[in-house]
Amino acid sequence: MNIDLLKRLCETPGVPGHEHRVRDLIAAEAADLFDTIETDVMGSLVCTRNGEGDDPERVVLACHMDEIGFLVSHVSDKGFIHVSPVGGFDPRNLFSRRVLVCTEGGDYKGIMMAEGKPIHISAPEDRKKVPEPTDFFVDIGLGSAAKDKVRVGDFVVMDEPLVEMGERIVSKALDNRIACWLGLEVARKLASDGAKHKCRLTVAFTVQEEVGLRGARTVAADLRPHIGIGIDTTLACDTPGVPERDKTTELGKGFGLHLKDNSFIADLRLTREFEDIARANDIPWQRTILAGGGMDGAALQQAASGARAIGIVVGTRYIHTVCEMIDRRDLLAARDVLAAFVATR
Ligand SMILES: [Zn+2]
Repeated sequence: MNIDLLKRLCETPGVPGHEHRVRDLIAAEAADLFDTIETDVMGSLVCTRNGEGDDPERVVLACHMDEIGFLVSHVSDKGFIHVSPVGGFDPRNLFSRRVLVCTEGGDYKGIMMAEGKPIHISAPEDRKKVPEPTDFFVDIGLGSAAKDKVRVGDFVVMDEPLVEMGERIVSKALDNRIACWLGLEVARKLASDGAKHKCRLTVAFTVQEEVGLRGARTVAADLRPHIGIGIDTTLACDTPGVPERDKTTELGKGFGLHLKDNSFIADLRLTREFEDIARANDIPWQRTILAGGGMDGAALQQAASGARAIGIVVGTRYIHTVCEMIDRRDLLAARDVLAAFVATR
């Protein structure tokens, strides 16, 4: 598999409203794979492979480009950087992190710490308190000079490389750069297989999903899909401390057919179609329902007069941390079923 592309996608910084670097990377990769590539008003990258005839069926895959992160909200006179989260962080995962502060003038390595005292001088009750995400600050080591380098509105991401562990891949931002990878690799597979699909296939690399499906809404209004497929990570809580019934998915058991979350319920006929295709092609899958959360598929489903919609997801352990983990076989299963589906339309 094209692990180099996934590594570059995951390691490129891009939070809601600041997806431009990820978009540039995808646009360069997409150049030979699509007939048209456009950026919409909000910044989503809309890549289309033409269909046949005057009014082909419109199939849209939505792959959000943004990762959770922070915007700089204040820089103190001493150069400590305060931040405002964009996306859902669990503060317990934010202690002592290496981060990257991204500015127009360049990127600065930094560390993220919680306000307060180290263990040597803190009271036992202090150590039990969990701070809010806004109680964390960033130190880029430049002292008061940071005030000249970093401005309110600059963005901050976690700074960790992608690593491979056997069949498993660990990285920050697998949510949702795996979908960006899938959007490109599905098109690459269709091209290399010489698959002649009748539908007009659009892969929309959307913005601002992590703050409420914002980019997918405007993309969907413009494209008016007949079939909308949201592509994303989902939970894999097949780990210690989570009851079996809450696992959502298991790593290595195939791609996830996402049937319900707080934002939508999958189309029944599409569910059947995807299962038939998976069965016929020996592609492993697991049905899955997410107890909370939402995904871009909902925005596609409810655009204009509505679309048939489903989610294709990849189970991810330790989600919304720098240690997100997937199984590469699940990712490949998602690629194969999506390419097989598009080829039939
Ligand atoms: Zn996501």
